[in-house]
Amino acid sequence: MNQPVWQLKKQMCDIGQRIWQRGFCAGNEGNHSIRIGENRVLCTPTGISKGFLTPDDICVVDMDGNQVERNPNGRRRTSEILVHLAIYKKRPDIKAVIHSHPPHATAFAICNMPLPEGIHPEAEVFLGRVPIAKFAMPSKPDLADSIIPLIKEDTNTVLMGNHGSVSFGKDLIDTYYKLEILDAYCRILLLAHPLKRVNTLTAEEMTGLLQVKQQFGIPDSRLACAPTGCVGEQNQEFFATFDVQPMSASCGCGCNGQGSTTTQLSDTPDGDPTFEAMVQTITDQIMATVGA
Ligand SMILES: [Zn+2]
Repeated sequence: MNQPVWQLKKQMCDIGQRIWQRGFCAGNEGNHSIRIGENRVLCTPTGISKGFLTPDDICVVDMDGNQVERNPNGRRRTSEILVHLAIYKKRPDIKAVIHSHPPHATAFAICNMPLPEGIHPEAEVFLGRVPIAKFAMPSKPDLADSIIPLIKEDTNTVLMGNHGSVSFGKDLIDTYYKLEILDAYCRILLLAHPLKRVNTLTAEEMTGLLQVKQQFGIPDSRLACAPTGCVGEQNQEFFATFDVQPMSASCGCGCNGQGSTTTQLSDTPDGDPTFEAMVQTITDQIMATVGA
C-alpha cells in the first residue's frame, strides 16, 4: 500500500459516499476498512452514515481491534472490526474489506439461498463461488466465526445469513467493485425470476470462462472440475421453480444439447387462416396510417 494515509482516508470517504448513494447501506449500517501495515488498519467509525464521512472520522486500530490513535472527531471504531481483522489474519493478501447490506444480495441472504452459478460471466470471473454463512449475532465474535471457515483462497465475497454481505480484495476500489458486481448480479437474477426461465452456460463455456479467469491471474478452484459440469452444483434451490436449460447436453428437453427450446420464427403458424387474417388486418391498418 504505497498511498499516503491521508489519501486512503479520503478514499474511504469517497467509497462510503458511493455505498450510501447506491443504497447498499441505510442509516448507520455497514463498515469498511483498509489494512495499512502489519499491525495497522484504517476503519470507519460506529454511529455515522457512510455517506457523511470526513477523513477525520476514520479510526485507526491495531490487529487486536484496539483504537491506537486519538480520533480528531472523537469517533469510536466500528464494533464489527473483528470480522475485518479475522479476514486480514486468515488472508494476508487481503488489503480491504467492506461489510454492507446490498438489498438484492441481502434478499438471497435472508432466504439462505446460495447464488446460482454458470449464468453470468461477470459474476463468474469477478466473484466466483459465493458461500453463505449461517446467521450470527452482529458485533459479537460469533459473526467472524460464522464467516472465516468459509473463506478459501479463491473466495472474495461471503453472504451473511439474514444479514448482508462481506467483500474483500487487494485494495478498497477492487473490493467496492466486487460489492457492486454482487448486487448487480443478484438484481439481474431477481429481474429474470418473473420471466420463468434462466439459461445456464454449458460445461464447455464455463471451462473456457474459467480459463480466461486464470489468464487474468484470478484463482478459481472450480476450473479443475468445470469440464465435468461441477459449476452449478449448488443451483438447485434457485432453479427449483424454473424451466431451466441444464449445463449437460443430455438435458432431456428435446433440444439435443443445442440450447434454448424457445419458439423459433419457423414455428409461426404458416397457413393458419386466423393468423394470416390477423396479419392482413395489421398490414392494412399500417398501410392506412402511412397513407398508402
Ligand atoms: Zn451489518
